[in-house]
Amino acid sequence: MKITDIKTMLLSRWHEPENQWFTNTFRTVRADCPIIVVTTDEGLEGIGEACAYGGLAHIRSWVEWLKPSFIGRDPRDLSIVLSPNGRTRMYDCAVGGIDCALWDLRGKIEGKRVADMLKADSLKKVRLYASSGCRYDWSDRPEQLIEETLGYLADGYTACKVRIGTYWDWDGVTVDRFNGLMRDLAQEINGRMELMVDGNQRLTEEQALPIAKELDRLGFTWFEEPIPMADVDGYARLNAAVDMPITGGEQFTTLEQFRPYLEKHAYGIVQPDAGWCGITEALKIAEAAYRYGIDLCPHSWHNGLMAIENAHLVAALPNPRVLEVCMIQGPLQWDIFAEKPPIADGWLELPDKPGLGVALGENLESRFPYVEGHYAITVER
Ligand SMILES: [Mg+2]
Repeated sequence: MKITDIKTMLLSRWHEPENQWFTNTFRTVRADCPIIVVTTDEGLEGIGEACAYGGLAHIRSWVEWLKPSFIGRDPRDLSIVLSPNGRTRMYDCAVGGIDCALWDLRGKIEGKRVADMLKADSLKKVRLYASSGCRYDWSDRPEQLIEETLGYLADGYTACKVRIGTYWDWDGVTVDRFNGLMRDLAQEINGRMELMVDGNQRLTEEQALPIAKELDRLGFTWFEEPIPMADVDGYARLNAAVDMPITGGEQFTTLEQFRPYLEKHAYGIVQPDAGWCGITEALKIAEAAYRYGIDLCPHSWHNGLMAIENAHLVAALPNPRVLEVCMIQGPLQWDIFAEKPPIADGWLELPDKPGLGVALGENLESRFPYVEGHYAITVER
């Protein structure tokens, strides 16, 4: 079997004004989705979603540039796999998406689920955590965060990750005020679901430490990216200061990049994303982290195909835990599929079909026409 073509489908959908979401100084007005399709001379196709953070047009341009090295090659030949470089986000996302599409194709050729090809006793379903907390405004009703989280609890989710809200300086938000909101949240949830916080690298170490201590005391499951990602020693100090894992690495795409963080125990959990670095590299990172007693819980924002890629990854991990699922992506997220994969009570069942086990819906490019430009706008107050 030979690869005959690789195409990139770019899809977009505007959020209705009431469904736009916001964090820091950004308001996200659109959902984007780049899907890579690898075709063969025997009619089989592999599909993969690249992380949209690579920029849709850039991803397509890199895929076009890389395509000639794949044409005429056997998709089962693992020597054709490209590695992310850890420097160029658009290149890495293109490589990650191609890698996922090749795994889908290999599974279809072998008649096996991707997770089963990666590990003999892989899981059949993975536990999801609802990822959001991107709709509360410190100058309006921060308690919206608690109502939103209670909604996910009512929908059957057993874990939820929240964020730190709109730009703190607009409203003079302090560490004490944020910790107060987290205390209220923990009290309302009252142990009925796991809670995590994502700082999106917005805090200083001086701010992050008292927050980490309070989250640890309140029983939160992890505190993600509290400070800028390059500060490996800052991460190591924070991770040593509390029992709860300090987590990160969603923008790291190579094992080499993770090495100092593993050696210094700077992360309690690592969070690469199969749509950003590929399933192949993510598994290498998982295996290295496991030697340090560190688990992998992938970053997985954006659309359903990336969630499925990361679900197969989680199902094949040495110590599978949870998979992130974006709660605010709108209809593009699951409408890219002919049939939505089964999600019930906060669990995603891996389809019992070869490859990634999902098929794309019809006429996606006319239903979700690509829109150029950035998916978010910067707000000034
Ligand atoms: Mg994150």
